[in-house]
Amino acid sequence: MSAGATDRPIFRRIALIGLGLIAGSVAMAARASGSAGHIAGYAKSAETRAAVRDLGFCDSVHDSAAEAVAGADLVILAVPVGAMGEIAAAIGPHLGPGAIVTDVGSVKQEVIAAVAPHLPAQVHFIPGHPLAGTEHSGPRAGFASLFQNRWWLLTPLEGAEPAPTARLSAFVRSLGAQVEEMDAAHHDLVLSVTSHVPHLIAYTMVGVADHLKRVTESEVIKYSAAGFRDFTRIAASDPVMWRDVFLTNKEAVLDVLGRFTEELFVLQRAIRMGDAAQLQEYFTRTRAIRRGIIEAGQDTAAPDFGRSAALPEGAVKPSAKSDEG
Ligand code: NAP
Repeated sequence: MSAGATDRPIFRRIALIGLGLIAGSVAMAARASGSAGHIAGYAKSAETRAAVRDLGFCDSVHDSAAEAVAGADLVILAVPVGAMGEIAAAIGPHLGPGAIVTDVGSVKQEVIAAVAPHLPAQVHFIPGHPLAGTEHSGPRAGFASLFQNRWWLLTPLEGAEPAPTARLSAFVRSLGAQVEEMDAAHHDLVLSVTSHVPHLIAYTMVGVADHLKRVTESEVIKYSAAGFRDFTRIAASDPVMWRDVFLTNKEAVLDVLGRFTEELFVLQRAIRMGDAAQLQEYFTRTRAIRRGIIEAGQDTAAPDFGRSAALPEGAVKPSAKSDEG
């Protein structure tokens, strides 16, 4: 039995709403571990639904979200954060009693506010967020090992029953992930530091280079060094997903951005004043953080960040699986 494999399905029928990178990876990992009996799916466009019918990672693909969730004991909302409320409203009346609904959105407080009011009382809503992703999106971007050894945060609502959360945790572990529970507000602050603001900085830096390119012709592309190349990879992430992340995690992002700007001014001043000791001390501290991440098993020390890692046939090769929202 492979790591994460289960003797019998943890959920008899799961419904994936949204069939992109995350949902595709969930489906493939659940298939590999045997933790889902039947996998039903729905995506907004007929084009994506047709692609998934071809790719075959769902057992059934439906033309409406309501149809997809009928009879499901686990429903996973894997659409952009801004679409969660609309989907919850569409599926609410079709959810069976005792069903578990979770989501994979990169922001938690706004998703809870948008989804919870639409779900019937006898449904267990347990918000979640896998800290795993790539800059690729769409139904062809998923791969079974995406969640291997990555964190999957759950933010159960106050007063939530423990048994459904334990069952969802077991499912998430069957996909290869490690589970931790966290308060939604804390999640949004932590993620703004570890993911959201870094993405904004990457977007900005690539924007600056794009502007410069007009001055230096194509040299920015031609002589692109590793640091800038990594920024461009992050800045290639799905525009709709990231638009929604910044619109819905506004408060935490603006707070962290303020702190970032202050630090930037400190470094700017050290450079202007030629303060070698301050620069060296600062970079020594930040280097230790990188070591900590590698020691925690959340990235590889390889100079290519594990880009050459083998993937299942047909999967889109990610540059690195660390660009989670
Ligand atoms: P994705 O590859 O772009 O897939 C999104 C899917 O949602 C597509 O199948 C899309 O359908 C569908 N969709 C969009 N709007 C919809 C609507 N109104 N109704 C029904 N389906 C709709 O996105 P993803 O990367 O899997 O991200 C999904 C969620 O996971 C987001 O909330 C994101 O914040 C979160 N997340 C992403 C990452 C990451 O690194 N990518 C990591 C962790 C969490 P069509 O193809 O038909 O448009």
